[in-house]
Amino acid sequence: MTAAVNRAESLEEFRVRARAWCEENVPKGWREQQLGAVEDELVSFQRNWRATLQSGGYLAAHWPREWGGSDLPLPHQAVLAEELARADAPRLALYQVAIYNAAPAIMHFGTPEQKQRHLLGIQNGDVWCQGFSEPGAGSDLASLSTRAERRGDVFVVNGQKVWTSWAMRADWCFMLVRTDPAAPKRHGITFLLVDMTTPGIEARPITQATGAAEFCELFLTDVEVPVENVLGPVNEGWRVSQTTLASERGVTILELAERLHRNGLEGLIDAMAGWTGEDGRPVLDDPSTRERLGGFYGEVQILRAMCQRLIESMTAHGGVGTEASVIKLYYSELLQRFMDFAVQVRGLPAQIAQPLLLSGGWETGNWAHDFLNSWSWTIAGGSNEIQRNIIGEQGLGLPREPRAVGER
Ligand SMILES: Cc1cc2nc3c(=O)[nH]c(=O)nc-3n(C[C@H](O)[C@H](O)[C@H](O)COP(=O)(O)OP(=O)(O)OC[C@H]3O[C@@H](n4cnc5c(N)ncnc54)[C@H](O)[C@@H]3O)c2cc1C
Repeated sequence: MTAAVNRAESLEEFRVRARAWCEENVPKGWREQQLGAVEDELVSFQRNWRATLQSGGYLAAHWPREWGGSDLPLPHQAVLAEELARADAPRLALYQVAIYNAAPAIMHFGTPEQKQRHLLGIQNGDVWCQGFSEPGAGSDLASLSTRAERRGDVFVVNGQKVWTSWAMRADWCFMLVRTDPAAPKRHGITFLLVDMTTPGIEARPITQATGAAEFCELFLTDVEVPVENVLGPVNEGWRVSQTTLASERGVTILELAERLHRNGLEGLIDAMAGWTGEDGRPVLDDPSTRERLGGFYGEVQILRAMCQRLIESMTAHGGVGTEASVIKLYYSELLQRFMDFAVQVRGLPAQIAQPLLLSGGWETGNWAHDFLNSWSWTIAGGSNEIQRNIIGEQGLGLPREPRAVGER
């Protein structure tokens, strides 16, 4: 791997280098080529793009060097995110969970063998999925009821997970299971690393409004997981599940904000230059449309500024407070209103939605698809109602939400 960073390098020097790399390596015309592609083709494109990023040292550049990363400092990570968005680089959707969710937990809690096996596995292309949500446990995740019973050298798992993104393509799943039903809700849970080829696992894709089907229901019947695949202490899986690298959350949202600016707003304005309304006049001549575009421009700049401030505050003090919840709320609701606007302005032609899921993210320029897809963001990563609870309780100091009877 060629080293992507040099700590002595200034941010601007790094930006120049990252921009040059993007210009040379981001596949040209990839969006057009993916229109109408089948899932196998999209997956194979993701594999190739992953390999390209890896060969440039940009795959998991924030990881420590001993695990194949480049130990990229946070401000440099932010610059890299900006440059990837600026270059309209594909998003690495299939590998996000592995790189940003599985890896931090394994780095923090893994045994030397687990680190060796899985961090190198992720560098070499293992796909991971996250088995947390269940039909009866989403926002209130600690209510999960998938059971794991110790029998000799294995835990035998029975239950059901849901909304498991990319489970049908995953090599591994990190999963929360209940190992002590008698313990208080958050204490009897264990974090397991499950090989998806183990007998008894069935992943059934769920087709969504966009026509895509990357979510799965995951049925688990007498799945035997070796005890050495427990991550962290038995019955302390809740604590393990809280491991996220705060910096990654900040950088992820910054990249999404940059993409909303570049592919979303600027992309829409470029596209609008060729659109005419029902009266045959250019849509950009309409004063109310121009006024709304100006309003969105202001809101996107506010979002970018909030993200920059978050990165600066994380660089200075570490950690992410309620600012991350505020930004997630602001971003997701802005994204929805913006996509709604794009669909309205485009009129009837926007009604034709083609599934274009992997790589494209939330701003594919396929407006009906993007509008439908934008709704997932007010739910994913903790619904907006839950974010409001967090802001109310932790940010404003309001009284905590009453606990359910019997919850400890
Ligand atoms: C794009 C996307 C990807 C996802 N990927 C995964 C994945 O890979 N793995 C995985 O495990 N899960 C995944 N999920 C699931 C996600 O974590 C859950 O959908 C989310 O936690 C909400 O849970 P739920 O759907 O069960 O809704 P519920 O918790 O049943 O909530 C239903 C409604 O009630 C509201 N509500 C619930 N509790 C409260 C409260 N205390 N106060 C106020 N309002 C409340 C919610 O905001 C929501 O509007 C994904 C979801 C999305 C949209």
